[in-house]
Amino acid sequence: MDNEEPEEDSFELYKLRKILQDLEKKKGYHTELISLYIPPDKRISDVINYLKQEYGQASNIKSKTTRKNVMDCIVTIQKRLGMIKKPPETGMVIFCGAIPQMGPGTEKIELYPIVPPPGRKINTYKYHCASEFYLEPLKDLLTEKATFGIVAMDRSGATIATIKGNELNVIEKITSGIQGKHRAGGQSQRRFERLIEQQAHEFFQRLGEHMNKIFLPLIEEGKLEGIIIGGAGPTKDYFAKSDFFDYRIRDKLLLVVDTGYSDITGIREIIEKSEGYLKKLRYTKEKKLVQKFLGHLARDTGLVTYGEKEVRKALEQSAVDILLLSENLSKLRVLIRCPNCKYSIEKTLPPQELDALEQEIAGKSCPECDSSLLTIDSVVDIIEELGELAKSTGARVEIISPDTEEGAQLWNGFGGIAAILRYSLQD
Ligand SMILES: [Zn+2]
Repeated sequence: MDNEEPEEDSFELYKLRKILQDLEKKKGYHTELISLYIPPDKRISDVINYLKQEYGQASNIKSKTTRKNVMDCIVTIQKRLGMIKKPPETGMVIFCGAIPQMGPGTEKIELYPIVPPPGRKINTYKYHCASEFYLEPLKDLLTEKATFGIVAMDRSGATIATIKGNELNVIEKITSGIQGKHRAGGQSQRRFERLIEQQAHEFFQRLGEHMNKIFLPLIEEGKLEGIIIGGAGPTKDYFAKSDFFDYRIRDKLLLVVDTGYSDITGIREIIEKSEGYLKKLRYTKEKKLVQKFLGHLARDTGLVTYGEKEVRKALEQSAVDILLLSENLSKLRVLIRCPNCKYSIEKTLPPQELDALEQEIAGKSCPECDSSLLTIDSVVDIIEELGELAKSTGARVEIISPDTEEGAQLWNGFGGIAAILRYSLQD
């Protein structure tokens, strides 16, 4: 059994969640915000043709400003699409709208192309025009819970199902056709037993084929988190270890549990028996990562560091292997710059202190050239800032929820920023 945890890029999901929050705040006028969902199998040329028609339609819009804004958006999207030959493997979403910066007449065309991370695929084509972006499908993609495959089996038959959240879906029921315990008149005991074994073998093979047909496409789409097989006695153990199904399914096998039924009752029993395990699974990866950090710290290996300043230093030296960031971190990284000379300084602060900083800077002059032009150049979420910095040095970035004991410790004990290093930075 392979216990490798599902590989999901927690940083990519974090960024996507963040973009969604930003896009939710964007409001425009009339139908000046376009949302375009493109599934991976859609031809770009078809989308471009579709946009041509929409462009033609837009020329009928009565309001001159709206007409211009919508047409500008369509052209912007066409240009963006012209840069690619086909959609990415997970599809893509393009948000483009005329966003008022300070009220009517101040609209600027803003473009947000988004590619969902692996395992989160755009399924349907959609073109949508409104005064706000259409974000529901993207939100669904984010809240999508993991799917598990479940097989209840014994020598009489089997049931194959999937479960996603609370949604149980029985996909197939098969019967084995294995003869009962009583042999037909005239049959020798040996021949009877051989026949039964042969029938069992054929049934296992058939069950394996059904599992391949059902589970492999889900695995290929990155939609299956794991598989659980349940059944009575040694039959299920024998089957679970066998080659009757594809090795990719065996790689996803999480648990083998006991149940006395091979029907829906069996499926329910399997779910009940694995619930605790599945719940734990979600957090296992996060717990293990923090434990690894704590282990190094306890053994004083010199291969860890924590706190914003120290971790930043390690990142700048490309010494970080895994960066651990608490989901609770809600700080901003602000870049202050003087346009008159080359002076710049960066600061980390909580979002509620941004206004105060703006005021402070307005009344301050540049320490280098004494000009009064100091301005806030950029404001970035610190998780994104550190995460991107880490990725640019080849480090892995993991966003850790505060929901586990270890996750809470990372937040409370280490300020929510810690790193496991490639090499020791100690003198
Ligand atoms: Zn200056």
